[in-house]
Order: sequence, then structure tokens, then C-alpha cells
Amino acid sequence: MSELFDTLQGILGPKGFLAGDDIGARYYTDAVGLLGAKPALVLRPIDTFEVSKIMSACHEAGQPVTTQGGITGLVQGAIPEEGEIVLSLERMNKIEEFDALGANMTVQAGAILQTVQETAEQQDLTFPLDLGARGSCTIGGNISTNAGGNRVIRYGMTRDLILGIEAVLADGTIINGLHKLVKNNTGYDLKHLFVGSEGTLGIVTRAVLKLFPLPKGRSVSLCGLKDFKSVTALLHHTKSALGPSLSAFEVMWQNYYEATFNILTEAQHPVEARYPFYVLVESMGTDNDKDREAMEEALGGAFEANLIEDAIIAKSESEIEKIWELRDVSLDVAISLSPIHAYDISLPIGEMESFFSQLDVDLAAQWPKHKLVVFGHLGDGNLHIIINDGMAESDKPGINNCVYGLTGKHQGSISAEHGIGLQKRAYLSKSRSAEEITLMKLLKNTMDRKNILNPGRIFESSVESP
Ligand SMILES: Cc1cc2nc3c(=O)[nH]c(=O)nc-3n(C[C@H](O)[C@H](O)[C@H](O)COP(=O)(O)OP(=O)(O)OC[C@H]3O[C@@H](n4cnc5c(N)ncnc54)[C@H](O)[C@@H]3O)c2cc1C
Repeated sequence: MSELFDTLQGILGPKGFLAGDDIGARYYTDAVGLLGAKPALVLRPIDTFEVSKIMSACHEAGQPVTTQGGITGLVQGAIPEEGEIVLSLERMNKIEEFDALGANMTVQAGAILQTVQETAEQQDLTFPLDLGARGSCTIGGNISTNAGGNRVIRYGMTRDLILGIEAVLADGTIINGLHKLVKNNTGYDLKHLFVGSEGTLGIVTRAVLKLFPLPKGRSVSLCGLKDFKSVTALLHHTKSALGPSLSAFEVMWQNYYEATFNILTEAQHPVEARYPFYVLVESMGTDNDKDREAMEEALGGAFEANLIEDAIIAKSESEIEKIWELRDVSLDVAISLSPIHAYDISLPIGEMESFFSQLDVDLAAQWPKHKLVVFGHLGDGNLHIIINDGMAESDKPGINNCVYGLTGKHQGSISAEHGIGLQKRAYLSKSRSAEEITLMKLLKNTMDRKNILNPGRIFESSVESP
């Protein structure tokens, strides 16, 4: 091992190499405070060639590596396990090239999402991926988890926003796929191997991001609704009334909405806290006044159809931010309700009501005091569920079986956008067939024969001969 350490130190120099007491807890603590194992080394390369040399040496030595971006992932994917060393992309954070005419941007994988968003906006373009962790998460992490976030309803997930990817394989081979073309049917589209594979197939080092015209107008409203049927009917209504300018449709159950005011202690309730459901509707178009008029008309129609009980439309950018804050504080809400069991599932929208009625019944049978606190990107079928009250940590397997068993029965996904990591791997078969999992393992074994890249994430570690 010390021979490998010497080799790595030689590749990286003092700034790129942390060991012993120089390794702070942030390299093995995740976004919700969960501790991994303290790694023996943290490697901080500055470019693709250094990543390649690191992986070549680690492959030779059979040394397992955990790749880290902003460590905001929520499924225990980026915090090291015993015996793993960390490869952090934190110094590979440059915006390398901006092509305004071609509407794309080439960045190093450690670039922070918010920096990318702001850089695009300065050129009158937008990179539309957006999530609460925007100030810390990285493009490499977004790609590896196929992050979703707030604007999927209009622009799709990260997978839809990437034109090209450069990645380093487990043995150090550099795959330069930094293509900039929208249309490119020249065999397998290899970039998709690295999107959503949670760092198990390669280390994303650079990417070409797809940019869009910056919307010149925005309107945001918050509606109070009487029942879940009205929520799904409002989604249908706003899709039709606002057309392609509909950019977000976020739902909050009443108890989530109320809990946000324990975090945002200075904030006023934009809409009274007495409706069972709240929905944030956002549209983005070409002009603030026109967008507001279209929103007024859409909500007017919703009132007439008896879909909403109350609504406000933000009158300024600061009011828009205040409404969005209700969604952005979701992690603080979850932490404030601890101890909790948290889930990120997606379901066909038509199945949601029966799913929740049955979940309530199933949980009540064993945990009569349980509470369900729900919010999420309902426009994409994605709901975040917090379950708390009267449950111990040891109840987790039972609660997981309840939630994931029912998710599978309702043709849902046990991970809508956060991924599988270590946290959900025991339940992968609830959403993927045995044949799909076998093919995934075959790919993993082919691309990472020694099982050194994020071993054990997504499925149990196994080095099988293909
Ligand atoms: C407040 C908050 C809000 C959030 N909201 C959302 C949301 O709305 N939608 C959503 O999808 N997620 C959300 N997340 C989860 C998280 O932000 C995303 O998963 C994000 O994409 C992770 O990026 P990261 O850079 O922090 O990755 P990390 O946490 O560092 O890593 C995540 C995974 O990707 C791997 N990885 C990281 N970088 C690379 C790389 N360069 N090459 C290969 N593998 C790599 C890691 O090994 C790990 O398996 C939220 C998290 C927080 C804390």
C-alpha cells in the first residue's frame, strides 16, 4: 500500500494529496450528517490526465476508490466505505469553453451547478437543471446521479441536458466523448453509460452541456387545494392552459407546508395554512406581464372548474423567491422532523391516490402513530415521503418493505432521482427485473474487472467472470 501511496503522491504533488490529520470530516460525512469510514487518502486531481494516472495506479494495485463531487447525494453513494480512498473532483471546477452560437458549454466535472447556471445566464442562455443543492452539487455528481430537480417537467432530467461526456475508466483509459452534436447516430451512445450509473462505470471528468434560450419572463403562483383529485386535475389543467411554458409543478401536503414555517421563521404564509394540499405552479415565457396574464387566466379557469380554493401570484422577483423557498428548505424540514425515514419514489400519477391510502393502512397496522409528510415534483410523478413518529431506527427494514413493496406493486420506481447508492440496493429488484440487474452486473464486470470504482453501490459487490 505504501508503494501505491508514494506513486499517487508523485502524480499529484502536495496540493492534490491529503492524508492523516489533513483529511477533514467533510470528506466522509454526507448531506444529512451520516458518517462513512475515514479514508486513508483524499486525492484532488486538477485534470483528466491526473485522474487517468491515479486510476491506472489504483487498478494495478486493486485499490477501491470512491468518487466525490459536492457530497450532496442522499443515498450514501459518495461517502467512503472501509478500505476505500477518495477521489475528489473539487479542484476540477473550470468552465472551459462557452459556445453561444451552438448553445453549449464545456466544463470540468467538478464545476458547481450554480456557477454553470450563472455563467449561462450572463450570455442570455440557461442551463435549466435546478435543485436545492445548486450551490454545492457538481456537474459530475448531477450526471452520475442523473439528477432531476425542479424543471424536469419542461426540460427533462440531466440525461436530456448532456451532449458529450469525457470519462476515465477503472483502468485509467480516457474515453473522450466530448461531442457537441444534437444528432449523432454513430453506434452506441456511450455517454449514457455514465449518466445515472453513480460512478460505478467510470469517473466523469468533463462534459458538454446543452443550453437553452434564457426565458425573459416568469410567473409563479401558490395554490391551496381541497383534495388530491384536485391536485392531479390542476396538473392536467395547467399543462393544457400554459402549454410548453409550464416549467414547474410542485406539490406540498399541508403538514410539509406548515413545517416550512418552523424553518423560515420570519416568513409570512403566502396562502393560509388550512388547505390539505398546496401547489407551486411556475411558467417561464418571453415577458413577465404576458406570463402573469397567462397565469391569471389559467388559475381563473381552475377556480371556475372548482379545482383550487385559494391562490396568489407573485408580484415581484422577491415574492417568487419567497414561494420557492418553501420547496428549497426541504432538507432542513426533513432534519427538523428527525428521526425520520425518507423516500424518493415515482409513481404513475393515476396510481398515487390508491398508493397513499394503502400505505397509510399498511403502516398503521404496525405503527399506529405514524405520520406521512409529503412533497415533491408531482408534475414528473416524483414524490418525496417523510415518515416519522413512533418508529425506531430498527423499524427501517419493515418500513422500507412497506414503502418499496407497494411502490413495486403500483409500477413505480424506488428511486425517482436520488439514485440507489448503498441505501436502496437491497430493494433494486422491486423496480428492475432480474434480467435487467444481470445485464447491469455484466456491464459493471466488463468495465471494472477488479471492482474498484464505487464498489457495492447500486448492487452488492461481485467480481464474476463474464
Ligand atoms: C438540499 C438538497 C436538495 C436536493 N434536491 C435534489 C433534487 O431536487 N433532485 C435531485 O435529483 N437531487 C437532489 N438532491 C441530491 C443531490 O444534490 C444530487 O444527487 C446531486 O446530483 C449530487 O451531486 P454531487 O456533486 O453533490 O454528487 P456527490 O454527492 O458527491 O456524488 C453523488 C454520486 O455520484 C458519484 N459521483 C460524483 N461525481 C462523480 C464524477 N465526476 N464521476 C463519477 N461519479 C461521480 C458519487 O460517487 C456518488 O455515487 C438534493 C440534495 C440536497 C442536499
